[in-house]
Amino acid sequence: MTTCWVPGADGSPYGVQTLPYGAFRHSGGAGSPGGGSPGGGSPGGGSPGGGSPGGEQRLGVRIGDFVLDLRGAEDADLILAGGALCQPTLDAFLALGRAQWTTVRRRIVELLTESEHRAAVEPLLVPLAQVDLVMPFTVGDYVDFYSSEQHASNVGQIFRPGQPLLTPNWRHLPIGYHGRAGTVVVSGTPIVRPCGQRRSSAGPVFGPSGRLDIEAEVGFVVGVPTRLGDRVPTERFADHVFGVTLVNDWSARDIQAWEYQPLGPFLGKSFATSVSPWIVPLEALEHAWVPAPPQDPPVLPYLAESSRRGLDLSIVVEWNGTKVSEPPFAGMYWTPAQQLAHLTVNGAALRTGDLYASGTVSGDRRDQVGSFLELTWGGTEPVTLDDGSLRTFLDDGDTVTITATAPGPAGTTIGLGEVTGTVLPAS
Ligand code: CA
Repeated sequence: MTTCWVPGADGSPYGVQTLPYGAFRHSGGAGSPGGGSPGGGSPGGGSPGGGSPGGEQRLGVRIGDFVLDLRGAEDADLILAGGALCQPTLDAFLALGRAQWTTVRRRIVELLTESEHRAAVEPLLVPLAQVDLVMPFTVGDYVDFYSSEQHASNVGQIFRPGQPLLTPNWRHLPIGYHGRAGTVVVSGTPIVRPCGQRRSSAGPVFGPSGRLDIEAEVGFVVGVPTRLGDRVPTERFADHVFGVTLVNDWSARDIQAWEYQPLGPFLGKSFATSVSPWIVPLEALEHAWVPAPPQDPPVLPYLAESSRRGLDLSIVVEWNGTKVSEPPFAGMYWTPAQQLAHLTVNGAALRTGDLYASGTVSGDRRDQVGSFLELTWGGTEPVTLDDGSLRTFLDDGDTVTITATAPGPAGTTIGLGEVTGTVLPAS
């Protein structure tokens, strides 16, 4: 494996095999609150200095426990990206396309591994503990799918007992809905408990949700747009999708249960969706592709794939610091390429910054589910956290953190960052 000169990077999930993109502001202090940074602080001794002027939003790439200031790098002509890396968001860079994404990534690897660049690049490294991580791109449209067979079957049993586990369409198309792009927020943003209508024995009542839940998901960030009327075939997935981010689709189950028929999720979902501050480019995940599950019955031709590939991502869900679940992403029935093909098959145009999420990731076992609805079986089987407290759904003050890793080249690990959020009382 290539050796990186940045202290602590080799052997870390954020070595040169990963290099996720994000946006940051220099906070000037250690351990700034609410920024969603994975913590850990800076490595001791010989800490590279530098940093951006306070408050200005800049693009960066994570390397070890540092952020490489990409604006500084492009300003110094260390990287050439036509000015795209001097912008406060990834939007312009996302639009450049696969060839440029790959060229820039190769150049960043050179800068971080070849000792001749160290003197010029080291001043551009900022310790993670000294930055606030912010939303790195402008979310265009947001779509959420429902692609885990185990999750869909579990929800079917809980919400529609006695009926078939899956709806008749489930194996024929990746079911999804358009969500609210404007409330996609970066990890660390507090989540105010939503209010809404829910059912009661005396009729509908209004108030704070009593069944606030999470959904652990994987999001795909679109870079290259399409024109109205165009379709994206499954084999063109990598021409349009830039990379991957972790998603927590916060869900108010009581609001959702009352409102969802017949048009689907609405206010039970739209109050907030959290994403990791790091976008992991597809190039970093080349060693994480594995065969996706076979599909029966066969799908219609526009959803067929010559080689069905899923991503072998291992997800961990922590509830107030207690690991409660480890959902496996590799077993998802519908692949991200099929989701993109379906999303555009009617000619709906893609925009740079579009985000589509996989749907809740659940495996076969109870300790592999991606929602607390499933973990506690509709709230009937509480879980015990490490502090001895019992939970069914989220209490005010609870914190949920979702992380993930994937296999990298030569036995390395790819880190996908984290998405965390703490529940605040209803306003
Ligand atoms: Ca969802």
